Amino acid sequence: MSTIVLKFGGTSVATTDLIKSAASIVKKEYDAGNNLAVVVSAMAGTTNTLINLVKEINSSVDSEYDVVVSSGEQVTAGLMSMALNQLGIPSRSWLGWQLPIITSGPHRNSLIEKINVEKILKDFEGKKVAVLAGFQGLSVEGKITTIGRGGSDNTAVFLASALNADRCDIYTDVDGVYTSDPKITSKVKKLNKVSYEEMIEMASQGAKVLQTASVESAMSKNVNVQVRSTFKPNEEGTEISIDGEGEILRAVTGVAYSKDEAKITIIDLVDEPGIAAKIFNKLSDYSINVDMIVQNNFIERKMTNLTFTIPMGDLEKSLSILDKLKDQIEFSRIISEDKLSKVSIIGSGMRNQPGIAAKMFQCLSEQNINIEVISTSEIKVSVLIDKARTEDAVSSLHDTFKLDNI
Ligand code: ADP
Ligand code: ASP
Ligand code: MG
Repeated sequence: MSTIVLKFGGTSVATTDLIKSAASIVKKEYDAGNNLAVVVSAMAGTTNTLINLVKEINSSVDSEYDVVVSSGEQVTAGLMSMALNQLGIPSRSWLGWQLPIITSGPHRNSLIEKINVEKILKDFEGKKVAVLAGFQGLSVEGKITTIGRGGSDNTAVFLASALNADRCDIYTDVDGVYTSDPKITSKVKKLNKVSYEEMIEMASQGAKVLQTASVESAMSKNVNVQVRSTFKPNEEGTEISIDGEGEILRAVTGVAYSKDEAKITIIDLVDEPGIAAKIFNKLSDYSINVDMIVQNNFIERKMTNLTFTIPMGDLEKSLSILDKLKDQIEFSRIISEDKLSKVSIIGSGMRNQPGIAAKMFQCLSEQNINIEVISTSEIKVSVLIDKARTEDAVSSLHDTFKLDNI
């Protein structure tokens, strides 16, 4: 007998018929004699609708945001539990506060600290399937919290660790992790195994098949994660674990993209110690995540131009924060740009193979795609480009690194 956590994402529970099909996947695992906990997302589109409702009242930070936005998962947890009961499988739903799932940190982007699994273990003793609403928790002050977009993946991984589960199966609308987003190029290939390390980079560079925080949790807690399709449940998925497969032999494992990028440049910024710290500390006080950073110093003028990227949704807020800094920091002006996209190549094999970045830049130049900003890590190269060229960049890089052939 194994303990398995199964997570169903938004498209997998988008209608009551789909919830019934997902319940039949759970039934198969239940009939095999396993202890099961099921984590569900809200129906596809529901969370966006709820966020829009919140914005109609107040677009700034209010902890009631989480009360509203977490409600989609309550609906699907109840419906999934009902569907299981209809199939003759004893089941009950659990909301974050009922267990509880204790979180810390700011509202909207709280961190799970602990999942109290006592009640779920009691369900297992009674041969019941526990169905959890993903994405939500409870702060120590007793308020409902949410753990960031795509967070049900992290609820599932954290739960698998707390239950010491044998597996955490993430059921979604694709049958595994591919060399790139199957929605962008049809030449993609499914990867049988991906290492935590590569998956963290792929997810953080935009491959939203798994939420980045969930892969970080899986790596730190050593949870065996399988990505599988709700619509083709008999297909082998992708395993995410310590070792990938063949990743050392190839330089690049995947191409990821994010279309949600904006760029700010502060022109003629005074070049003194502590200036960058002042700017980035202020942005971080407002929970703005700065990503790529480039600085050009003009030594003779003691001036610099500072360029950085942020999520597009934070552009307006960032510009108004910088405007308020004008009387504390000397600069001549600020220019900004959205309609940008970040395209990244990722691969552990890059560590041992020189010339990968050059090959990437050559490929983009042959496509006449201009590179605005570059950033690298040991296993990743990212470039900022015109959003309209995203598909061309991803497809041509996929071809250049022969990812249809790995
Ligand atoms: P869920 O609602 O199940 O959480 P998501 O929409 O969050 O699903 O994630 C699944 C989507 O991730 C897929 O439909 C696919 O378009 C996208 N995706 C992006 N990059 C990749 C990749 N490398 N491999 C597989 N899917 C990817
Ligand atoms: N429903 C939440 C979202 O759309 C959480 C999730 O689906 O994982 O972000
Ligand atoms: Mg998701």
